[in-house]
Amino acid sequence: MKTLIYNTKEMDEAVWLEAAGRILAEGGLVAIPTETVYGLAANAMDETAAAKIYAAKGRPSDNPLIVHIADMAAMDGLVTELPETAVKLAEKFWPGPLTMILPKRPEVPYGTTGGLDTVAVRMPSHPVARKLIASSGICLAAPSANTSGRPSPTRAEHVYEDMNGKIDLILDDGPVGIGIESTIVDLSGEVPMILRPGYITKAMIEEVVGEVRVDPAILSENKDKNFRPKAPGMKYKHYAPKGELLIVSGDSKKVIEKITELASEKTAAGYRVGIIGTDETIGAYHIPENSRGEAAAVMSIGTRREEATISHNLYDILRRMDGAGVDYIYSESFAEGSRGQAVMNRLLKAAGHQRIDVG
Ligand code: AMP
Ligand code: MG
Repeated sequence: MKTLIYNTKEMDEAVWLEAAGRILAEGGLVAIPTETVYGLAANAMDETAAAKIYAAKGRPSDNPLIVHIADMAAMDGLVTELPETAVKLAEKFWPGPLTMILPKRPEVPYGTTGGLDTVAVRMPSHPVARKLIASSGICLAAPSANTSGRPSPTRAEHVYEDMNGKIDLILDDGPVGIGIESTIVDLSGEVPMILRPGYITKAMIEEVVGEVRVDPAILSENKDKNFRPKAPGMKYKHYAPKGELLIVSGDSKKVIEKITELASEKTAAGYRVGIIGTDETIGAYHIPENSRGEAAAVMSIGTRREEATISHNLYDILRRMDGAGVDYIYSESFAEGSRGQAVMNRLLKAAGHQRIDVG
């Protein structure tokens, strides 16, 4: 299959809207920008189309898809009940990076919900996603547009790397803003429960609906196989770069020393290493070349003065590390405050929870 790339910033809007809408109506796949990451979209109500998403991503079939809508009226066709909490959260955070889980209507195929009786719904704020859903009139099942297990795509180039030849069209609107996936909140039980942390924090949700719980399975590494995350996707080792990643936390000066020591050891052993630092620390890493004359890939993920830069660059830097062909990656740790938790959740998964604290 030939994958077309349309640049939404340069092309006439009517042209890309028409082309993407037609592909979706015919059961095809279109990668679209959203404010969180690029999504791989298909008609959510068409089981055959949804199945193509799983095939293109190599995604396990028990990992349900998020359905993207453009207006509240679409909820009527998706969920059997709309609790007060959902209405309030929608008023406050939609369109935006919040996904809500609610009991599904029978019309929503199990092929979209991974066999569950609930459906995950989100109203994205990205103008390209919104316009496409509104003009096509199709609710879009759209997981991240990466190969399963690879870092989520935050640029059209990332989508192309993973999906070229597997999907019909990529709508390229440049890098996305937030850079990590939506917060998922389950509203199908008594008390709202966060199943995946994201840009919208627990505190922000609590302010609107009162008590909120967090699925204990997402907070720490769980070796107990019976301790299953409620969002099936959270059990998979996600976001993994090819190099082995270790996170070093603690006092900044000690972290730099430790990373320098570990990286130098691996370099001396002939490996290629990568270091994830910040604008504040990047100049402090001096790692010798390895025996093949390869320099360490030392990259800044952003600035600690502006937390948003870190989530924005996270997946891109993991992919750039892959591109640099590093064997080992050492990363600084980031604040685990409200929003930082979302970044650390992804980084820890990418590291397979390998982390040391230097105090
Ligand atoms: P992605 O779209 O790739 O960001 O992944 C979607 C995430 O939402 C996965 O972790 C899914 O397991 C989760 N999800 C989607 N639908 C449901 C649902 N009905 N119940 C629980 N988790 C869900
Ligand atoms: Mg994903």
